[in-house]
Amino acid sequence: PTNLLTIPTKSRAEDQHDVVFKQQLSFNGIAKRDIASLGKTQGQLIILGSGWAGFKLLKDLSTKHYEVTVISPRNYFVFTPLLASSSVGTLEFRCITEPIRRYSPKIKYYQAYADTIDLKKQVIHCTSNIEHKKHEFSIDYDKLIIAVGAKSNTFGIKGVDEHAFFLKDISDARKIRSRVIECFEHASQPDVTKKEATDLLHFVVVGGGPTGIEFSGELYDFITEDMARLYPGLINLVTMTVYDVAPQILGSFDASLRDFATKKFKRKGINICTNRHVMEVKEREIIIEEEGSIPYGMLVWSTGLTENPLIHSMSDQLIKDKSAKRLLTDEYLRVLSKETGQALDNVYALGDCASIENYDLPATAQVANQKAKYLSKALSKIAPEKESITGTEPFKFRNFGSMAYIGKYTAVVDMTPVSEKAKEGGILAWLFWRSSYFTMTVSLRNKMLIPMYW
Ligand code: FAD
Repeated sequence: PTNLLTIPTKSRAEDQHDVVFKQQLSFNGIAKRDIASLGKTQGQLIILGSGWAGFKLLKDLSTKHYEVTVISPRNYFVFTPLLASSSVGTLEFRCITEPIRRYSPKIKYYQAYADTIDLKKQVIHCTSNIEHKKHEFSIDYDKLIIAVGAKSNTFGIKGVDEHAFFLKDISDARKIRSRVIECFEHASQPDVTKKEATDLLHFVVVGGGPTGIEFSGELYDFITEDMARLYPGLINLVTMTVYDVAPQILGSFDASLRDFATKKFKRKGINICTNRHVMEVKEREIIIEEEGSIPYGMLVWSTGLTENPLIHSMSDQLIKDKSAKRLLTDEYLRVLSKETGQALDNVYALGDCASIENYDLPATAQVANQKAKYLSKALSKIAPEKESITGTEPFKFRNFGSMAYIGKYTAVVDMTPVSEKAKEGGILAWLFWRSSYFTMTVSLRNKMLIPMYW
C-alpha cells in the first residue's frame, strides 16, 4: 500500500483513488487530509445519518465538487410514514426501505455511529456497529452535515426502556409484529385462564399523536381482519387502549378532525384515555396515576422525541434550542458556535436533531425533507466559487399540512395551512393518504411492491 501512495505519474482519477486509499489506511488513527490531491474538488463532505434528511441529501447532492461520505449505523433509509403498516404486515419491511449502497460509488458509506465531533480539528470519532467487529475510527471533514435524528422520549419513566415497544425502525416493527402474534398464541394455550387471556390480549398504546394513532388504526385492522379469522375464539377478549397526558388525541390537527378520529375510535371500541399520567411500566402492567395498575400483553410507547446522544455530546461546543434537545441553526442551517456565538460555515444540522433560531417547525419528515432539498441545492450553488452559503436564499418551509390513517379505510387529512377549508376525514382522505405516500416512495421497486401488498 505504501508503494501505491507514491506512484510518481498518475491521472486525476488515480489521484482521487489515492485519497480514498489514504483515508482507508488511517482508519484506526486520525485520517490525514490531502485536499490538494483532490484536484478541483472542495474536499470531503460527510453526512451523519441516513434518515429523511441524510438520505435526501446523499441522493441529491452533486458529487462534482465534493467527495461525499455517509456515516450511519444503518445502511438503509426507512420510509417512516408507512412503518406502522409494516409492523402489522400490511406491507412487507422491504417495501419501506431503500439501501444506501445503491448510491455507491457516487457516495462512500461507513456503517458506524458518530460518537463525538472535534469542531476545531474537524475530526469525527466513530464506532462501527457491525456485530462482532465493533471498532473505533476517526475521519476528518471539510464540510459536515449532522442529520442524526432524535431518540424516543421515555421522560425517564421507570420500566419504559425495559418493557415497552417503540416504533422508530424496521427492527422495532419486526418486534411488534412477533409480539402481537405471541400474545395470541400464548392466550390460546390450554392452561391459560380467561382472565390471563384477557390481560394478554390488552394492547396498549401510550401517546395519542399521529404515530400512536396510526399504529392503533393499523393494529385494529390487523386484529379485526386477520387475527379474528385465525383465532375466532379469542377475538371477544381483545381490548385496545390509547393513553395520553393531553386532553385530546391528535393535538396538532384541526379540532373537527380530532373529534372525528376520537368518535371513530370510540365506535370501534378502542378506549381513548386522555389526561392520564403514566407512573411506571412493569413487565405486564402499566401503572396509571388516575387508574392504578392495568395489565397488558403488549405496550407501544410513542410519546415524542428527545436528543440523540451525539447532540448531547456537543453541548459544550454548540448552541442548543430552548428545549436544549436540538442544535440551534441559523436560517441557512449552519450550527452556532458556543465559543463565538457565530455560525460555522462548514457545519450544518437538519432534521429532528436541529431547529432554526426564531422559526418553530415541527419534527417531521416534511421539514427534514425540505431542509435537505434546500441544502443540497445551496451547497451545489456555492461550490466551488464562493466560500459561504449566505450568498444564497435562506431556508423557507412550505407547510403542506398533515395526515394520519385511523383504520378501516379511513384517514384524516388536515391541509388547513394551505387553504382554510382543506380538511377531510373518511374514505376520501384515506385515498388521498395512500396516493400521497405512494407518490413519495423512492424506488421503482417499491412503487411496484407497495400497491401489490395493499
Ligand atoms: P431519522 O429519519 O430518524 O434518521 C436519523 C438517522 O441518523 C438514522 O439513519 C440513524 O440510524 C442515524 N443516526 C443516529 N445516530 C447516529 C450517529 N450517532 N451517527 C450517525 N448516524 C446516526 N413525519 C411526517 O412528516 N409525516 C409522517 O407521516 C410521519 N410518520 C412517522 C411515522 C413514524 C412511525 C415515525 C417514527 C416518524 C414519523 N414521522 C413522520 C416523523 C419523521 O419520520 C421524522 O421527522 C424524520 O424521520 C426525521 O428525519 P431525520 O433524518 O432527522 O431523522
